[in-house]
Formats: sequence, C-alpha cells, structure tokens
Amino acid sequence: MVTGASGGIGQAVVKALQSAGATVAGVDRFPSDSCDFSIVGDLTDPGFCDSLPDAAASQLGGLNIVINNAGVIRRGPITQASDEDYAISFAVNVEAPFRICRAAIPLLADQGGGAIVNIASCWGVHPGPNHPVYCMSKAALASLTQCLGHDHAHQGVRINAVCPNEVDTPMLRSGFEARQMDSQNAIEALNESVPIGHIAQPDEIADVVVFLASDQSRYMCGALVEVNGGKPVF
Ligand code: NAD
Repeated sequence: MVTGASGGIGQAVVKALQSAGATVAGVDRFPSDSCDFSIVGDLTDPGFCDSLPDAAASQLGGLNIVINNAGVIRRGPITQASDEDYAISFAVNVEAPFRICRAAIPLLADQGGGAIVNIASCWGVHPGPNHPVYCMSKAALASLTQCLGHDHAHQGVRINAVCPNEVDTPMLRSGFEARQMDSQNAIEALNESVPIGHIAQPDEIADVVVFLASDQSRYMCGALVEVNGGKPVF
C-alpha cells in the first residue's frame, strides 16, 4: 500500500514496486491510475486512516508493505504560519502515518512480518530555514520511525524512513511558482548546488524505498536513510 500514490514520488514508488513484482494499492485524494487498486480518500480523516490497512489487505489479499509517502508542505517563518497550516501539516505528515502504522503493524505481524517505509525529509533530520511547521512535522515522523523501528523488530515488522533533500516533483515546483519564479530555471539553478550534479528525480528516491521494503534491507530497523546527492541542508 502506498499513500500519496498520485504524487511525484508516489507514482515512482508504485512503478518501482510493481517492477519488483508487487501488487499495489494506491491511496490518494485522486484516483491512482497506475496502481492495481485505487483507494480514494482524505488522509486528514482519522477514520479513513484507521481503516486503510484493512481495506488494502482486503483488496490485495494480504498486506506486506506500507509506504507512508503522502505529505504536504506549508512554507514560511512561524510568524506567517496559520492555525490551518499547522493543523493540516500535522494531520497529513504525522497523524496519518501514526494511525496507519498503528493499524498496519498487527496485520503485518500476524502474517509473519513486513516492512513500513515512511517518507520523512532531510529537513526533519537537519532543520532548514523558514519552514518550521514542515520541519517539525517531518522531525516527528522521523522520531516515530525510530521508535517503532525498535519496538516492532521482534515481530518481524521493519520500519524505516527515507529522508530526501530536494526532489523534482509538483511539491517542489509549487514553491517556485508561489514566488512567481520559472520553476524550470529555478531547478536548473538548484541542480548546481548539489554535489552529484542534480536534485533528485523521483525514481532515485523510489529505488531506495523499494530497497527498504525488500529483504535486501532485512537487518535495518528504525533507520533514517538520507538520500541527498551529497547536499547538506545548509
Ligand atoms: P507531491 O505533492 O507530488 O505528492 C504528494 C501526494 O500526497 C499528492 O498526490 C497528494 O494528493 C497526496 N496527499 C496530500 N495530502 C493528502 C490528503 N489529505 N489525503 C490524501 N492524499 C494526500 O509531493 P512529493 O514531492 O511527491 O512528496 C512525497 C513525499 O516526499 C512527501 O511526504 C514529502 O514531504 C516528501 N519529500 C518531498 C521532497 C521534495 O523535494 N519533493 C523532499 C523531501 C521529502
């Protein structure tokens, strides 16, 4: 099961999981056309989140992998942050993964184990400038990952996180567009700031997600894997 399956990283994760042989249920506000099953709903709805692992398991005939990928970003310093910015950031980025993990772990454990991969951010591990609400929410998701990784390893449920720096997706481009910047020019400028030569493409994140979901990472529990092309947050 992949949340945010219609988004930039989500679509790449779905494709990479399918290439590895998985059947995928995608969750999003919009139909996830490339998924084998599509579950449409709003992750700010607590009941929807609580029911998702069971719903996905029914469609798929079991559940082995959960990818908490959906996320929102609200930008700007705290003095410009609204109550709604705070509420939606924590609802989607923290509460939804909390509820989904809580419901999924017993299902995964009952069938002998499985993997959960949370998409956090470098900006939660090393807080960056002027996005405190986003950074706080991703720090909470990183902490959730570390706690659960240790708590549930004995059940064969491995929980890890991928922490990307900048990735070329609608989320990143929306920040440039909000500032009336040409997003392609802005991305080309950003590419020069990355030691490896370019910001991440979604498939470069998805391949790491699939690794953490697979048996290749069978000894990893509670890890925060930074995928940043060599670029620090500062
Ligand atoms: P995106 O905006 O392209 O995709 C996010 C997806 O989540 C969308 O399909 C959206 O519909 C879905 N979503 C958001 N709110 C939802 C809700 N309430 N209910 C259901 N679905 C909802 O973003 P992306 O760049 O692909 O980001 C994926 C993840 O990676 C996010 O958690 C993001 O924070 C994280 N991340 C992104 C970057 C980046 O630079 N793009 C960097 C680090 C981490």
